[in-house]
Formats: sequence, structure tokens, C-alpha cells
Amino acid sequence: MIFTDNSPLTVLNQLYGYPAFVGEQEKIITHVLNGGSGLVLMPTGGGKSLCYQIPALLVPGITIVVSPLIALMQDQVATLDELGVSAIYFSSVLDEETNYESIRKIKAGLVKLVYITPEKLCNQWFINFIMTLKISLFAIDEAHCVSHWGHDFRPEYQRLSVLKQHFPKVPRLALTATADYYTRIDIIHFLGLKDAPVFATSFNRSNIYYSTLEKNNGKGQLLSFIGKNKSGCGIVYCNSRKRVDELTEFLNSNGINAINYHAGLASDVRNKNQTEFLQSSTSVMVATVAFGLGIDKPDVRYVYHFDMPRSIDHFYQESGRAGRDSMAAISVVNYGFKEIYELSQMVLNSEVSDLKKRYELDKLKRMIAYCDSLVCRRQVLLDALGEKSDPCGNCDLCLNSPNLVDASVIAQKIMSAIYRMQQRFGVTQVIDVLRGRATATVQVWEHHKLSTFGIASEYTEKELRRIIRQLYSQGLLDIDFNTGALKVNAKSIPVMRGLEQVWIKATALKVAPEFKQLTW
Ligand code: ADP
Ligand code: ZN
Repeated sequence: MIFTDNSPLTVLNQLYGYPAFVGEQEKIITHVLNGGSGLVLMPTGGGKSLCYQIPALLVPGITIVVSPLIALMQDQVATLDELGVSAIYFSSVLDEETNYESIRKIKAGLVKLVYITPEKLCNQWFINFIMTLKISLFAIDEAHCVSHWGHDFRPEYQRLSVLKQHFPKVPRLALTATADYYTRIDIIHFLGLKDAPVFATSFNRSNIYYSTLEKNNGKGQLLSFIGKNKSGCGIVYCNSRKRVDELTEFLNSNGINAINYHAGLASDVRNKNQTEFLQSSTSVMVATVAFGLGIDKPDVRYVYHFDMPRSIDHFYQESGRAGRDSMAAISVVNYGFKEIYELSQMVLNSEVSDLKKRYELDKLKRMIAYCDSLVCRRQVLLDALGEKSDPCGNCDLCLNSPNLVDASVIAQKIMSAIYRMQQRFGVTQVIDVLRGRATATVQVWEHHKLSTFGIASEYTEKELRRIIRQLYSQGLLDIDFNTGALKVNAKSIPVMRGLEQVWIKATALKVAPEFKQLTW
């Protein structure tokens, strides 16, 4: 490849056809060209690939790109191919002959970029082989896979610690779209980046409109949403395979071209469905979280979470698959109270350390707070990623400030019921007591004899559920995730004593006359 000069900008202009670098790209490229290692934190679609592709073209030798997925590698190699850059990939699914041919090409000096999975790279034979070559850079893509805190933990990634050992002089550039603090610490540790700079770009995806919908006939809500957004394609995420299949069928029977994807499908079906979705501009992909890592479809117009995502980190990654082309896109989370308990049980029953469980539960709590937020959703989301921001003007809460009502009295009633029930009962029993329903279990525990029995009989069960959830999201109540029991906490006390007011969204209830209204 011949460029008019050897500057990164020239390569960007003449090879990729882009006028200018975005964000930190140029700084990163210059740093790598000077032989430096580093960690790049950039949101999906931020342009990470160029940070190692351009240096790869400007220095003698081979750049090795570590990637967790074959689909990802294929995609990148095909793109580079079109640009006339010699890149190849190795994977365990390629046959011996193809691999042999690739080795021959590398030996002949015909290759600039080699994409490879960590397990293949760390194979002793391969390490010995590349030690005979001139390696100019190791780019470790999706570097968060190294961390067991992350959502895509791949133990093989930890073996990459051998790179520093065997190639102390070759720069290592780790790249990820996961900003989480603990993940970052793991990447730095396993990839030997203690003294290397971190290049962090804002994680804000300003073209995504964030919104939530309280679940209330979930299928109908989904159908109505898709009906309004038929001209583009989208992803619908569910938390179970069964629901994926059910919803796919439901959508198809309603005249919508829906395709399913989950780990329970045979791999050829999965691949076929994925390809169909990637090539379509109007279809709907209904999937579990198994669908997504490395899916680079620029024109996904919406990501609709049919169930609440299991953590704010998952949510950020999944919703971030919308609008990668920078055009307007929508994120919707359809959520209900039941899911909180289901998701917390999933965490508690998982086979991980208690520390990790606590960490996951914290991420779940942040997700719940996002759903029930009273202030800009983007602020809540970015705050969870460690970034401060102003109200965005592009979320449902910024555009339609919720009507708030003073719920101090009902909050006091709920809290004292929980307290009198010794903080040992879940939401159903608490609501039965508040509404004065002497069910069998209420009688067994003699809760019908409490002074709080029936003190909120004017509310429906649904209203109380919503109010309790909002109190929880505002940190005014706790849930014992082991038992599902509701508990009061330090923040409940001033409310119970009448020292502090509580405001909740008016949509939580059919506004009763006793409520004052306040519009934000
Ligand atoms: P990431 O890996 O961070 O998700 P990519 O490297 O795949 O992002 O880049 C996302 C898209 O942005 C790609 O289509 C890429 O060609 C494009 N892109 C990258 N850098 C620039 C730039 N400086 N100007 C315009 N488009 C760019
Ligand atoms: Zn906002």
C-alpha cells in the first residue's frame, strides 16, 4: 500500500476515507507508534479498531489481534480485505490446510495483521513460532473477557499474561467497551499494564433515546412498540430461552418478521438466524443475551428489553447495540416487580463467591434504580459507569418530567407495616396486611391483629406494588435478597417520623384526592 506520507491521518484519509480522527484515536495511535502499551476504554462504535489497525500499517512487522469470537475476526478480516490490507485469522474451526497456508503466508512476510483466539495464541507451538517473527504490536480486543467480574469472562484470556513475559519489548494495547472499575483493575493486572496509560472516552451514547415502560400486558406493549417502529430493525432481549421462542412465535403470528436466537438452538440454526438478521433492514431479533457480543450491525434502530436486564452493566452493553451508525435509536426497558426477585435469585443461586454475588446484586440494584428513576436516565446510567453528566434532553424523563405526588403518608403506612411484621415478610404478605386481607398465611402469623392491618385498604394491590418498588428504588426500603423480605433502613426512619417527605411518580397510582401534585 502506498500513501503520500506515513502519517496516521494520511492513512485515515487515503485508506479508510474518513476526514478526521474521533475522540482519543489520534493520541492512542501516536502513543502506540512510539512503542507504548495502553488500555483503551471506548464505548461500542467508538472506533477502537483503527487504534491498532493504523499502527499495524505504519510499522514494520506483524500486529497480532486477540479476539474472543470467530464471527468478530471474520468480520474484521473481511473489511480489511476490501480495503486491500493483508489480514488473516486463525481459529480452531479452520481446517489444517487453511491454517498451514496462513503460516506460509506469514513466513513469506505477506501478512500485516493476524487475528487469533487467546487459546490458539497461547499454545506453546504458536508462541515459539511468533518468537521467530517481527511482532510490532499485540492488540487485545474485548479485553474485559479477562475479568471474572465482567459479563463475558473467558478464562483463556488470563493466559495472555505470558505475552509480557515472552515479548517484553512489544507494546500491548488492550481495548474494551466495559468501563467498570474492577474489570479495569483485572485487565491491568493480567495484561501487565501497570505503568501504561488509560485512554478513556465518555461512554455516553447521545443518539440513543432511553426510556422505560412498566410491565402491564408485556406482549401487547411490545407489539404496539414494534408497530410504531416498523421501518427499522431491532433486538428484543428476554431472560429465558422459553420466552424467546414464545415471543418469536407471537410476533410472527402478528405479521412481524421475527427471528429467534439463544444457546439452546443448534449452531447451524443460530448462524442462519444471525445472518438473516444481519442482512435484513426490518426484521426483529428476539434473543437471550447469548446474542450480541461483537455483533456489528450499524442500523439496529431499537433494543427492547422485554425483561429487566440482570445488571446495569449488561444493560449498557445490550442497549448499546442500537444506533451504532450514530443515527437516532431507542432503548426501552419493560420491567415489573416480579423480575427483581427472579433476578436476585439467579445471582444468589449462581456458583460464584459471596463477594461476586454482592457485586452483582449492587449492579442489579442500580438497574432497578434506573428503571424507577425520577431524574434523567442517562445520568443514572453514566453515574453507574463512573461518569458525571448533565440532564440529557434525550430520555423519557427529560422530555416528559413525571408528575410527582407526595406519598409521605402511604410511605409511613407501608414502613410501619413492614416494621410491625418484624421485617420478615415479602411484598405479597405486606400488601395483604396493608389492604386488610385476612388470608390463611396472614392468620397463621396473626398479622390480622396488627394495628397496621387494613390501613391502606383504599389502594389496589398493583398500586401498592408500584409504590413499594419506588420506595425501594429511592433507597427508602431494603429487600433481603435471600428471603425476599422487605426491611426498613436508616433512610426510612425520618420518613416514619414525619420528618421527611417522599415523592413518587403519579403514574404509580390513580391519583387519590389526598395527594398534592407537583410537576417538575
Ligand atoms: P468499536 O470497535 O469501538 O465498536 P469500530 O472500530 O468497529 O468500533 O468502529 C465503529 C465504526 O466507526 C466503524 O464503521 C468505523 O469504520 C467507524 N469509524 C472509526 N473511526 C472513524 C473516524 N475517525 N471517522 C469516521 N468513522 C470512523
Ligand atoms: Zn435525560
